[in-house]
Amino acid sequence: MGVAALIVAAGRGVRVADAGLPKQYLDLAGKPVLRRTLDLFAHRADVDRIQVVIHPGDRFLYDRAAVGYGPGLAPPVGGGATRQLSVLAGLEALAPFDPDRVLIHDAARPFTPADAIGAVMAALASSPGAIAVQPVTDTIKRGQGNGPIVGTVPRDGLWRAQTPQGFHFRSILDAHRRARDAGSTGFTDDAALAEWAGLEVVLVPVEGLNMKITTPEDVTLARAMLTQPFSVAETCTLETRIGNGFDVHRFASGDHVWLCGHRIPHSASLEGHSDADVGLHALTDAVLGAIGDGDIGQHFPPSDPQWKGAASHHFLADAVRRVRARGGRIVNADVTLLCEAPKIAPHRDAMRARLAEILGITIDRVGVKATTTEGLGFTGRREGIAAMAVATVSLPA
Ligand code: MG
Repeated sequence: MGVAALIVAAGRGVRVADAGLPKQYLDLAGKPVLRRTLDLFAHRADVDRIQVVIHPGDRFLYDRAAVGYGPGLAPPVGGGATRQLSVLAGLEALAPFDPDRVLIHDAARPFTPADAIGAVMAALASSPGAIAVQPVTDTIKRGQGNGPIVGTVPRDGLWRAQTPQGFHFRSILDAHRRARDAGSTGFTDDAALAEWAGLEVVLVPVEGLNMKITTPEDVTLARAMLTQPFSVAETCTLETRIGNGFDVHRFASGDHVWLCGHRIPHSASLEGHSDADVGLHALTDAVLGAIGDGDIGQHFPPSDPQWKGAASHHFLADAVRRVRARGGRIVNADVTLLCEAPKIAPHRDAMRARLAEILGITIDRVGVKATTTEGLGFTGRREGIAAMAVATVSLPA
């Protein structure tokens, strides 16, 4: 057999008293701690067998927590008087299957990242022992009881020993048997026992949350984390904002117009300080309106010579940056152009593609429509082009 996982769940969890249950059977957002820990290993293709060591009095709790796993989960075995002896009982139960390697893990560490388990396993290719560790971040003091400080322990080279702790199976089984036979039964982790036995153990620094549920505060924290998603984006409630924009530019002499970032040959051009892209201007105001951040004239004043003849996609791109700076995103945009000419339909998809590119969204989220005004008003008299736009923005509340 390749790899076995040995889950140590025999403790009584005396520091946590919640519903009278040992901590490994406490409910964490609908699942017992032990079941969450089992899931860390049960879903791995590189773990062949899982052995749990339990307190003999917890069989009912175990059966309830471990229901529904396949044959890869062995029947539980009863633990011993100390953690060390419980691990030995688990190793002896695995011995007939002769696994190549074993990962020993605390039942009370249900959050261990999959990468950490994989890293410890990988380290066993070049060492008989490997353990997950994280750096000591607090300054360590030595005191006289709770009394005055008698020294500060240099933090360099200090690591917090966690689990999983992986070993070549035959080596750690042999070390455990020798420790028991020598009457040394108080090792608090398997790496300490391995050191005692002269077995080399390497440190595998792991990242992420690998907390051991020990105190009532840990239980509260673990429950809070599971009911509140981890990422900032997820913890924020997203709200939907809508902004609208409107713009008009008059015709002047020329041979093309810019509309929605697309150049169209025409018998006249639109007059303006920039390239007079009425569609982009309306949409820029819609995006700015959705986030309540002024308007295009405020951010790019016509009095500023640097915007003379400017390509208007810069204005829309700036509005999109303002949305992103608030952690938001554009959901969709819709532009309506009002004019008798030029004909918009042949250019519609090119405009949609260009707007989608500037907005950073897919083309199916962009609408471009056109209408005449039936010969009425300034657009009907072909004096200029008007544009209306709506933008929807999703923003953390
Ligand atoms: Mg304008």
